[in-house]
Amino acid sequence: MDDLNTATASAADQQPLLEIDGLSRYFDLGKGRRVHAVDGVSLNIGAREIVGLVGESGSGKSTLGKTLIGLHDKTAGSVRWRGETLPARYRAADFRRLAKSMQMIFQDPYSSLNPRMTVGEIIGEGLRLHTGLGTNAIREQVAAWLRRVGLEPDHMGRYPHEFSGGQRQRIGIARALILEPEFVVCDEPISALDVSVQAQVIRLLGELQDNLGLTLLFIAHDLSMVRYLSDRMAVMYLGGLVEVGPSDDVYFDPRHPYTELLISSNPEPDPARERARASVTLAGEIPSPLNVPPGCRFATRCPKVMERCHRERPALLPLKDVSTRQVACHLYA
Ligand code: SF4
Repeated sequence: MDDLNTATASAADQQPLLEIDGLSRYFDLGKGRRVHAVDGVSLNIGAREIVGLVGESGSGKSTLGKTLIGLHDKTAGSVRWRGETLPARYRAADFRRLAKSMQMIFQDPYSSLNPRMTVGEIIGEGLRLHTGLGTNAIREQVAAWLRRVGLEPDHMGRYPHEFSGGQRQRIGIARALILEPEFVVCDEPISALDVSVQAQVIRLLGELQDNLGLTLLFIAHDLSMVRYLSDRMAVMYLGGLVEVGPSDDVYFDPRHPYTELLISSNPEPDPARERARASVTLAGEIPSPLNVPPGCRFATRCPKVMERCHRERPALLPLKDVSTRQVACHLYA
């Protein structure tokens, strides 16, 4: 896995599919109040790479994913796709042009499917809008995709409410992938599902990634699952990335104090290892993105805080001893 991770990371360095540079997304609430949801994120993602994006609720993970595929405007910074700088604000023509390149699988399979459309209409909509295919050809492709995600072609005429949560997420996956995009943002695709079906959906996503050569940004809470699925892990805190590196390395040898605490407070799936491990609780709440502290954003909760941390925001820089890993912390400066 280490070799694979290192190879993927170096491939990403050489030929990124996506180059994110200083990307920010703020929301103005009026009266000078501004939410810094995403603040100066830089990350390269290589073709066929799976990057797991982790962090607590409110860290900006979903906003980053939505900004990458144009569902939110960019306040500052840039996103380059195969070398082309994407617009700060998408127009309808940009969505049309990029629909075959980038898609998103949403968190909640209950609210993300239109209840008044049949499953056939939902899955086939992308083909209807973005290709010149006729009705019969679209039906054939929808039937093939229903099989591919483990459903039946005769489910085409049914409505979303007739399906379980896991089946609805399979419908959401077919809808996102029918145009065969290269890059897919998976926004906590299993967090609304029963534990019993989570593994099945993850297995399906892994198979499709492999067969279609997809590049994924996989947003999740569950660090052990992200480690299992992802080549690299990116840890987000209060709008910024604090650590990036090969998943196993970050999981087993975290360097940023926040990553350390996040991993140690994440339950181990193996009961024996869970009993044996020394758990440390991540104390306190993540500060509001309306009142971002100056300096290091983790300073208000960091057990290793120093005077300098309150003044200077640390940049995300490669570690001196492992160039494939990046950490934003003055301890490593
Ligand atoms: Fe902690 Fe300072 Fe590092 Fe921030 S920069 S994580 S406050 S030691």
